[in-house]
Amino acid sequence: MKKLCILLAVCMLLPLLSAAALPGSAAMRGKGAVNVTLDTAGADGNGTVYTNSPLVDYTLISPNRTVGRTHAIDTITIHCVVGQCSVEALGSIFAPTSKKASSNYGIGLDGRIGMYVEEKDRSWCSSSPYNDNRAITIEVASDTYEPYAVYQAAYDSLIVLVTDICQRNGIKQLKWSDNKVMRMNHLGGCNMTVHRDYANKTCPGTYLYSRMGQIADAVNANLRRSAQTAPAPQPAANTP
Ligand SMILES: [Zn+2]
Repeated sequence: MKKLCILLAVCMLLPLLSAAALPGSAAMRGKGAVNVTLDTAGADGNGTVYTNSPLVDYTLISPNRTVGRTHAIDTITIHCVVGQCSVEALGSIFAPTSKKASSNYGIGLDGRIGMYVEEKDRSWCSSSPYNDNRAITIEVASDTYEPYAVYQAAYDSLIVLVTDICQRNGIKQLKWSDNKVMRMNHLGGCNMTVHRDYANKTCPGTYLYSRMGQIADAVNANLRRSAQTAPAPQPAANTP
């Protein structure tokens, strides 16, 4: 059997939490609307300004990261945790330096969003510095068995988070391909990759892998809707 995400064995040992006992999902908390308030910003040597998602519920920055990026953010890489854990539990997995793993964001089984590596920095997530230098990596709490399904609250949160990431980083359209060569070489506008492209792993699991096109469609619908409702540029004052 192929190995899954690097963190998983640990996450699987954590107590499984009851979804029913947890607070409401992102959607229930009214996070459907993406705002543009920025939490923090950084800049690389090229003057690129980086921001972080305002949708984050919990932050625990991991030492397992490389400060800065060598490439602009233009890719989304979605992973499965292989454990129905909270954002706090995920943060504790990424906290020890011995773990040598992290992700920019994580989504707990209840849909809450955690941040472990700021967008300005490279996470250690996809077994590929090349990919992680240009990608925002997202770990999503999932079952520990095939098809590694995720709860609806986590899925809904993922759509909202990815929409926000695309908006803030100027990614106008998300494009998935079932063809690994297309993904890895960013051909035809492909800007979604998966962990299995870079390592002998099942990640992101059948459930999420088979929904990548659906995820792209949902995010793109949000991006189109947002573009339509954005305030029109104000005409110059018609002063006499
Ligand atoms: Zn992974």
